[in-house]
Amino acid sequence: MLHACIVSTGTELLLGSTVDSNCMFLSQELNHLGVRVIARFTVGDNREQIKNAFINGFKLADLVICSGGLGPTFDDLTKEIACEVAGCQMELVEEEVKHLQEYFARRKRKMPEANLKQALFPREAIILKNAKGTAPGMYLKKDDKVLVLLPGPPREMQAMYMQEVESLLKRDFNLDEKQSANCTIKVMGPGESQVDEMLMDIINEPRGCSIVLLAHEGEVHIKVTAEGENSSHSKQVLREISGRIESTMDRYVFGYDDETLAGVVAQLLLTKGKRLAVVESCSGGLLAQMITDLPGSSRYFWGSVTSYSNEAKVRFLGVKEETLESYGAVSRETAEEMARGILSKSGCDFSLAITGIAGPDGGTVEKPVGLVYIALAAKDFCTVKEMHFAGGREAVRMLSAKTALDMLRRQLQYGGI
Ligand code: AMP
Ligand code: MG
Repeated sequence: MLHACIVSTGTELLLGSTVDSNCMFLSQELNHLGVRVIARFTVGDNREQIKNAFINGFKLADLVICSGGLGPTFDDLTKEIACEVAGCQMELVEEEVKHLQEYFARRKRKMPEANLKQALFPREAIILKNAKGTAPGMYLKKDDKVLVLLPGPPREMQAMYMQEVESLLKRDFNLDEKQSANCTIKVMGPGESQVDEMLMDIINEPRGCSIVLLAHEGEVHIKVTAEGENSSHSKQVLREISGRIESTMDRYVFGYDDETLAGVVAQLLLTKGKRLAVVESCSGGLLAQMITDLPGSSRYFWGSVTSYSNEAKVRFLGVKEETLESYGAVSRETAEEMARGILSKSGCDFSLAITGIAGPDGGTVEKPVGLVYIALAAKDFCTVKEMHFAGGREAVRMLSAKTALDMLRRQLQYGGI
């Protein structure tokens, strides 16, 4: 199996002001091609650091793929240093000079002298077109090693990888992206360690698959990759293992690959021709935002009320004063009245209500931070779930909104939460 090392250059990445999304993109794409990423280096725009990254990268891997530092300014050093490490001389490529001149002429701007360094390449390199910017990339095969240099801006880097690099890698290393097969099974409800325990038998004896668990905002993603002898064998192995995982995780499974919980719920509401109304206290509108992030949500989403104060709960939703006095705003009873209130006002098929203590203040011994009641109501029933979420304010709000969505998902899919 081909081994790769990814190098990200840019001081802004080390300062934490820019997320290294290029690295994520390249890791995913390379894995998809069946290339194993064995190391990643993030270095600043610094000669020594970049040089070390390339030297170590080539020690460890057959393929070193780097993003950033191909621009015209003094801190764009990547190509010069990579060529030095690879032992290649650079020379001015007339064709590239012409491209640059045309690029500036089209924009009625004079080309700065500094840009000329973007036309310097080793003779043996393949120059990669940049469909979305000025800095061309580079693909260099030398002594069984491959060096790939890509620009930093993510849209330029992604376009160049997809349009130019992928086919070169397939050609030079005989890669067949379909040889391995993969899928992500997404579950909501149990935490990572609980999923780990539930899948223990399968994880310990994966039979030709690698299984990785990733916790993500209350969800657990089970990434399964099958490495069979060929494409159909891989798919067969994947089907077998995924089937076992699905039957173990059962109703916790809400989706696959790129599917999102909100997207799955939206699809279920649409297919069944049902409409939803929402009322939120501690989540402050987050659930409504998750739903309306999807275009076209007006087809199934009536709207939401953020009833933060007791007064709002009473005046807009018809929650009884006595209920608030006897049980408090954060209670099973209030959650139920909130859900029933919005259901009758909206005339929707379903409603969801959230009331809880997001913290950091406001918790007591009986009602600690993280206690949240979530109600799901329809004409003939109302179910309330009591949850105890861990984490800070953000986490409690996000988990509340997602759990509410998941209750509705289970109701729509299985007729009960
Ligand atoms: P550069 O080509 O190094 O001048 O990078 C240009 C811009 O691309 C930077 O200012 C960043 O905003 C962005 N960029 C560079 N590297 C990365 C990366 N690894 N992930 C995400 N964005 C990046
Ligand atoms: Mg940079």
